[in-house]
Amino acid sequence: MMAAEQESHVVTADEVTAQQLSLLQHHLGYLQQASPYYQELFQQHDFSVVEFRSFADLTKLPLTSKADLAGSNRKFLAVAEEQVVDICQTSGTTGAPVIIWQTEADLQRLARNEQLSFMTAGITRSDRVLIGAALDRVFMAGLAYFLGLRRIGATVIRAGSGQPALVAELIRQQRPNVLIGVPSLLLLVARQFQERGENLAQLGIDKLICIGEPIRNENLLLSPLGEALQKSWSAQVLGTYASTEMATSFADCTIGCGGHLLPELIVVEILDDLGNPVASGKAGEVVVTPLGIKGTPLLRYRTGDIARLHPEPCRCGSQAPRLGPILGRRTQMLKCRGTTLFPAAISSAIQEMSAIEGYYLEVHSDFDLSDQLRVVVGCRDVSLSAATIAELISAKTRVKPEVILVSPEEIRKKTIRPELRKPVTFFDCRKRGSE
Ligand SMILES: [Zn+2]
Repeated sequence: MMAAEQESHVVTADEVTAQQLSLLQHHLGYLQQASPYYQELFQQHDFSVVEFRSFADLTKLPLTSKADLAGSNRKFLAVAEEQVVDICQTSGTTGAPVIIWQTEADLQRLARNEQLSFMTAGITRSDRVLIGAALDRVFMAGLAYFLGLRRIGATVIRAGSGQPALVAELIRQQRPNVLIGVPSLLLLVARQFQERGENLAQLGIDKLICIGEPIRNENLLLSPLGEALQKSWSAQVLGTYASTEMATSFADCTIGCGGHLLPELIVVEILDDLGNPVASGKAGEVVVTPLGIKGTPLLRYRTGDIARLHPEPCRCGSQAPRLGPILGRRTQMLKCRGTTLFPAAISSAIQEMSAIEGYYLEVHSDFDLSDQLRVVVGCRDVSLSAATIAELISAKTRVKPEVILVSPEEIRKKTIRPELRKPVTFFDCRKRGSE
């Protein structure tokens, strides 16, 4: 269907569902025919694709975990090796990296996904967009952004993520009006300008598209991090959520209230700990089935990320549900004296205290079922005591952690790892298996 036709015809929710079901059936047929991993799995579960008639049947199908994908990585390759045109690798938080093989059709799909996603965020061909993400090192994100922007016809400035000074210089020279990058990089670059006494508001940046870290809180309002970015750059701050495995992204529209789903490209389920669908609007694990993938197709892939879907239509007019910000990783959930929360909630409370220069969280467990939470903060302000910080965190999160004050240098030493793009602020020392 041509773009013009799509615009003139308002697609109803039923039509979207019918189209998605047919794409999903097609995807299952492809898995059965081409994916060695799923052929085996379907056989073990005595599942035949022809039995699949409705979305309700989806829950009968097994889930795929990151451990499955890493453990049997090669069996997920569903095409002949010579059809692979690009290889992506995830950093693999545990052990070996996971490889995602992409065909030419997959790159076309990736471009389409990113085109739709950026259009949702209001990007047009007249925009000049700086990509502050890596296009090399077998990463998918930077490549996807470039392909999507090329389809839109926007001007792309491929700055990369490694050098904030270079990013700042390219902003001066090439005058982009949109920046894409992880929040910490965008804050660092802002500081480069501020330190030289340059006025950020005069640079003409009107939009930031933030990747990697959520910039909204659970109520879909900007988090302290999102607000800091908005204030530094005097620009609209929008978020997007994606991962290499799902090869699909969810971008905020210009209203900025959650990432819009692209039903033609991905099926999203939100499941509880036992793998059952949660009630509409409740938080749970994001489980995805990316549609139309040829190289490394997946079925019901457990992202490990916790979020909720907002099913009601958006004020932008879109009927597609929106995915709220990632509240945390499933395995990082903290249980403190009857309250469950994610490290991000604690981080968010700490970020509201401007005197704090860096922090990290440590969680330990002893023999009871409650986690022991310790917050180590870097602070030079002698008027701020550990007890006051604990009170302020408790007021925001209902959990009162142990707070330890150290020098900001000590925090930097512990949290900054040259090989990682984000500071490490969460240390899980609990005695149990991780992912
Ligand atoms: Zn919207």
